[in-house]
Order: sequence, then structure tokens, then C-alpha cells
Amino acid sequence: MSKLITVLVPAYNEETVIEAFYERLNKVTNSISHYQFEILFVNDGSKDKTLQIIKKLRASDGRISYVDLSRNFGKEIAMLAGFDYSKGEAVIIIDADLQDPPELISEMISYWEQGYDDVYAKRSNRKGETWLKKSTSKTFYRILKKTTKIPIQEDTGDFRLLDRRCINALRQLRESQRYTKGLFSWLGFKKKEILFNRDPRAAGETKWNYPKLIGLAIEGITSFTTYPLKVSSLLGMFISIGAFIYMFVVIIKTLVFGEGVTGYPSLMSVILFLGGIQLLSLGVIGEYLGRIFNETKKRPVYLVQEYNEKKELFIHEVK
Ligand code: UDP
Ligand code: MG
Repeated sequence: MSKLITVLVPAYNEETVIEAFYERLNKVTNSISHYQFEILFVNDGSKDKTLQIIKKLRASDGRISYVDLSRNFGKEIAMLAGFDYSKGEAVIIIDADLQDPPELISEMISYWEQGYDDVYAKRSNRKGETWLKKSTSKTFYRILKKTTKIPIQEDTGDFRLLDRRCINALRQLRESQRYTKGLFSWLGFKKKEILFNRDPRAAGETKWNYPKLIGLAIEGITSFTTYPLKVSSLLGMFISIGAFIYMFVVIIKTLVFGEGVTGYPSLMSVILFLGGIQLLSLGVIGEYLGRIFNETKKRPVYLVQEYNEKKELFIHEVK
């Protein structure tokens, strides 16, 4: 028997592209004869006909499976559900909107055969993205790289092939606020980079907007580094030293020149400055505290409505 490879496709409101995606993927998998494929769709609480289309495709192609989540959990969690339900000895994560060309799969597999555990596709361009998105993304990566000890890959998405042992490792990382891209780096193992041109979306709309992206950026930083906490304590230290010195100056001035009512502007600016720094540091601490709070609740990361026509009665257990 030839080995099984899972193609994992998280899908949220993708009715306009999912059939075209399947056609293109099908051509690729048909051209690779020495492996069997499982095409695993994770329907992430779509509100359109995505699930019906997946079921229709499944009726004509037995390689298709699906996990239907109980609501929209976001791509990061949809991928974890996919890892849990995947059966293959390697898993290829790919977007449903044809931004990740399925044609790259055969190249990924050939590197996997050479012994690489994580073959990831790096974008050599970012077609169809605005200048603002490109530059904010660049700044984010620069900050993240400077403040973490693990190497983070820039300009790579989730489009990659992972060996079973990476998948098993990822399944043990069950934090509910996930920054999967960082987790891939955290894993380590043998990585191989391949380059590709990322096309604009074939149809439909991106689910990302700036508030969501900022949220993911905060996720990325807070789940991989405690650097912001360090910055706020350092800032506090320097300001305290400054304030201490200034206190002496004020005391001596008062002793020498007597008491005056002047000094309102300096007083005001010191109060405002310190107030601002304190609020900022509290906010930083709050971000981390909120994450601790969320993880201590130990809720299951996601719930499943249905797996291949079967109602899920139990929460999927980690094997
Ligand atoms: N996606 C998902 N859940 C979500 C948002 C997106 O499963 O809440 C899927 C989506 O269907 C697509 C992939 O994640 O297959 C990437 O989403 P999108 O194209 O919106 O992101 P972008 O390519 O703009 O980064
Ligand atoms: Mg996309």
C-alpha cells in the first residue's frame, strides 16, 4: 500500500471558489500516482453553501472528508481541528481560495521524500496587496524577530507540508489563542523553503481586516515573547531614577530659594507623562493576564458538529 497524504483545507464562506479549487487540486493529486490522498475540508462555521458543496464533492470523490465545526473559530483553530482528524503520514495545509497554488504539492512531496519534516512555501511577491498591508506586515515581523529567540520565517503563510511527527507535536500544543505560524517555528525539525508567486484571491473576499490583523499581531508577540513586560519595567526604572534625581533638585531648590508657587507646567507634564506610562504598562500586563485567564479555563479549543455525516457526541480526544 502506498502512503497516505492529507491535504488540509480550512474553509470559511468559500462557496464561490471551492469547486474551482477542487478541480485544480484534483488535477495535481491525479498526477501523483505513488501516494494516496485524503482531502480534508474543515468547514469553519461557514454561513453560505460551503458545506453543501463539500458534501456534494464528497459524494463523487471518496477521498474527501470533512470536519464541520460548531461555529466559526478562526483559521488558526480550524487548522488544529484538521490536525486532529487528519490520517495521513504527511499533511499539506492549503487555502481554499487558490492563493496557494496546488501545483507546488509535488515539489513539497519530493523534499519530504528527501527527509525534510516541514516544507514551507515562501512568497516571493505579494500581488494584490496594498502598500499599507505590506509595510505593516514588515514592521511586525521586524519587531517579532528582534524580541523572540526562535527564528520566525518572514513572508510565509500556512501553506506547507508537515511530517506526521510535526502534526503530533502540534496537536500537543493546545493553547486556545493560537499563533500557528510561530508554533511551526517553535517546533524546529528539518525545514526546507521553496519559493512561489502568490496570486490574488481567485474569488470571494479575504476574511482579514485591520482589527483582526492587529489582533493576530498582538497574539504573535504575546504568545512568543515577554519582551513588552521587560520594556515596561525598564521604562519604569529609568523614569523612577529621573524622578528621584528631580526630587533632590526640588528639595535643594526649595531650601536655597524658599517656596514659590511656580512650576505648574513642569508639574503638569510630569503627572501626565507618568500617568500615560502607567496606563500603558498596565495595558501590557493586562494583555498577558487575559491570556493566562483564557488558558486556565481549559475549555476544549473547538467543538465539532459533524465528521463525515456522523454527529460528534464527544469532544475529540488527543490520541
Ligand atoms: N479561513 C477559515 N476561518 C476563518 C477565516 C479564514 O477557515 O475564520 C480560511 C479561508 O477559508 C481560507 C484561508 O483560511 O481558506 C485563508 O483565509 P483568507 O483568504 O481570508 O486569508 P488571506 O489569504 O487573505 O490571508
Ligand atoms: Mg486568501
